[in-house]
Amino acid sequence: MKHSLAALALVALLPLFVHASNADKAVKGMPGDPDKLFAQLDTLLPTPGVTRAASGAPGAQYWQQRADYRIQVTLDEKRHRLSAKQSITYMNRSPDTLNYIWLQLDQNIFRDDSLARRSEVAANAGTRRDTVGSGDSLSFAAMRRHQAFEDREYGYEMGPVRDASGRTLRTTVNDTMMRIDLPTPLRPGTSIEINFEWQSNIVDEAAIGARGGYEYFSKNDTYQYFLAQWFPRLVAYTDYTGWQHKQFLDRGEFTLEFGDYDVEITVPADHIVASTGVLQNPDVVLTSEQRARLKRAETARKPIFIVTPEEALVNEKEGTNRTRTWRFKGENVRDFAWASSRKYIWDAMGYRQSDSKRPFVMAMSFYPNEGEPIWSKYSTHAVIHTMEVYSRFSFPYPYPVAISVNSWERGGMEYPMITFNGYRPTADEKTGKVTYSRSAKYGLIGVIIHEVGHIYFPMIVNSDERQWTWMDEGLNTFLEYIAELEWEENFPTFGDKTNVLDFITAYMQSTDQVPIMTNSDTIVQFGPNAYSKPAAALAVLRETVMGRELFDHAFREYSNRWKFKRPTPADFFRTMEDASGVDLDWFWRGWFYGTDHVDVAVGDIREYQVSTQDPDAEFPLKRQEFAANWPESYSQRQNRTEGLKTRVDRYPELKDFYNENDQFAVTNKDRNEFKDFREKLRDWERTVLDRAIKAGEYVYFVDFKNIGGLVTPLPLTLTYADGSTEEYPVPAEVWRYNALEVTKLFVRNKRLVSVELDRNHLIADSDKSNNITPRRIEQSRVELFRGRDRERNQMLDALAELKGEPKAEKSAGAAGGQDVPLQPVAK
Ligand SMILES: [Zn+2]
Repeated sequence: MKHSLAALALVALLPLFVHASNADKAVKGMPGDPDKLFAQLDTLLPTPGVTRAASGAPGAQYWQQRADYRIQVTLDEKRHRLSAKQSITYMNRSPDTLNYIWLQLDQNIFRDDSLARRSEVAANAGTRRDTVGSGDSLSFAAMRRHQAFEDREYGYEMGPVRDASGRTLRTTVNDTMMRIDLPTPLRPGTSIEINFEWQSNIVDEAAIGARGGYEYFSKNDTYQYFLAQWFPRLVAYTDYTGWQHKQFLDRGEFTLEFGDYDVEITVPADHIVASTGVLQNPDVVLTSEQRARLKRAETARKPIFIVTPEEALVNEKEGTNRTRTWRFKGENVRDFAWASSRKYIWDAMGYRQSDSKRPFVMAMSFYPNEGEPIWSKYSTHAVIHTMEVYSRFSFPYPYPVAISVNSWERGGMEYPMITFNGYRPTADEKTGKVTYSRSAKYGLIGVIIHEVGHIYFPMIVNSDERQWTWMDEGLNTFLEYIAELEWEENFPTFGDKTNVLDFITAYMQSTDQVPIMTNSDTIVQFGPNAYSKPAAALAVLRETVMGRELFDHAFREYSNRWKFKRPTPADFFRTMEDASGVDLDWFWRGWFYGTDHVDVAVGDIREYQVSTQDPDAEFPLKRQEFAANWPESYSQRQNRTEGLKTRVDRYPELKDFYNENDQFAVTNKDRNEFKDFREKLRDWERTVLDRAIKAGEYVYFVDFKNIGGLVTPLPLTLTYADGSTEEYPVPAEVWRYNALEVTKLFVRNKRLVSVELDRNHLIADSDKSNNITPRRIEQSRVELFRGRDRERNQMLDALAELKGEPKAEKSAGAAGGQDVPLQPVAK
């Protein structure tokens, strides 16, 4: 900050600075294209119509299709195989006549000739949890996956598709999609029933990487099965894209229709089944003891075991050739998933909510003993906690059950009423002692909150996952973050960081970026793009741009408008504005359609006091200012030190008027001009001047430079000489004339000592070092290090003792997932 004692004439200043700072720059070439940055989104969004209103609500003629399912499925545990009879009733509620309908055959993604597998590139040929090596490299996991595909065939073995009268319908399989040609077109308001049988091999999830499959526990030779995308499902037919049959390439998830499900699941008789829906035959599949425990769990204050850890241990040691059929019905769901194992511990606890339609929900968890002790401690609590928090931001949980199943390592996946979640403690190989890391504990709680949260978004607020990953992952990560901070202060949501806005800056500065508004299957940097950046955006909206009251109301409005319906991005953008009265088009443009980051620097601060223009008062101040700005030269001072006498010193008769009066000496002409000036002022101008002088106002011009490019609000902290501070939130609209640099004017009756931007980390500003004027010295600690060690001495290394027993192959027993560099073939 520059301190200037200078007096600046207010009369000159007042009319001038109105167009001095912003307006002048604005007319010259629009730096940073503020006309575009603040333009309304109309040109980018689809035109509103009868199905989707301009307000962002479902339109007067909104429609969606419906598909009801009846399935009888049998799990063949010996062959890891499903076989099923399936019936779908499809209701055409669209205004269109359909000559064919489409089924999605998701398991076909595992066929050798699938589009997904043939289009894999070397870098992503491994499983999802595999890390990619640099250069030409191949991981153990990628080789294991290759071998697993060699060993078995995957994908559906489909029987003929018949209509209700038994007529066989013509079908055409196109990769993960199958078209069924209808003998008579399906007119609006009519329905069709189709029946077919199918079989498929279940994938070994650990080897192949999938959202469902089986898991093998080598230590005790046992299995668990978690079945997802396991049956052919109707493709969504929508008002905005027709059939959503973009092929399943893995990233873009599932766009589905709501309907009722009646599913009979036949499994080995000693299995416990967890499933979407409500169990219809507890008398057949549960013991009276288990049913009594379930009853107790309804009113329990902590989770109650339905199957205890001890019972599960005994159960998993046996095995049987008998089978048992569990029947579940799920109403108004867009999908159906289940899990089955003889290993399961099962606990439950009732959750009560103030909702007349659904006052009671049973929260349940299923997990093997390998998940203990953290699963019985945290899982069901996390399920209930999620419903408590999410319902506040959206709507009461509408389903009768909410389930968490311990599935694959570190994974997580969501389905209506049921979620598959990873994380387990580790047992020491030698002692068997069980411990768990900090990241396992918080990872477990976090993933359960996340996946149960997905029951709201997108299982109920049914966005198009195949097109827009952020619409469910981003919104859900945002609410997950809120729920985690309500679980425990300092919850390590984002690695070592708690604040999503501190976490996201590194990604937002990176060069390898695409906008959030990018199709699910072409996103690069998938996690930050579709999960944490939209979550950060919503955090900025809620805490900085809109405030909690406006944001929470608008977000609840969006959730309620679109529950059990199918929103698009435009419906979200429009509703958030419609319900809050805040113009957010600039925000959606910057955060969702762009890749700029937030970095604003606080620049110069210039201080002024208002000039009286009275020469007797002002000229002495000008003299001081001149002396401060232009001190006497070094030569002058040295001459004096050396005792040099000037000619004028030696001949005083050379002095005249100008030796007595400097240029700041006041003359009568100056005094007359001042008198004249005051007389010519209008009355109101004189009042303004006198009042400003009496108050002793300080006038500050503060410069801001937009380095990152993303327009942002500027939450400022002004600190004064008396130690007091003032929070001053500048809205993003400050950039609407010039998006690169702006100057703010502050008039205060006390002296400012610093201006700081984003002290509370509210805007994801990526470079904090330029956020304060005057600049601060960054403080940290440095560790001394030793220079590079000696060169490799092969002769010395050859003398080293061999550790342990000599092994034939050094690589045997190395940890899975470790990169194995390929050796170039010697020529
Ligand atoms: Zn997710």
